[in-house]
Amino acid sequence: GAHIKGSCYEIGDMNLGEFNAYKNGGFFDITAALRAEINALGVKNYEISEICSHCDKNYFSYRRDGKTGRFAGWVIKR
Ligand SMILES: [Zn+2]
Repeated sequence: GAHIKGSCYEIGDMNLGEFNAYKNGGFFDITAALRAEINALGVKNYEISEICSHCDKNYFSYRRDGKTGRFAGWVIKR
């Protein structure tokens, strides 16, 4: 689903623990983290949305707007 992309996800020097490997300067590349997690589970057939929820105003973005609504996604194994 849509999610904030690494170029927009500024986190500064926040410690992300095991996810520090996906920090790029002061930004967090959540797309790379998602891809690694999905691959580690052995999932072969998946797509990652190119939509950045921070840039596309059709989506909520706490980092863009502060107070916002919420959205969620689910992954289903068939
Ligand atoms: Zn963006």
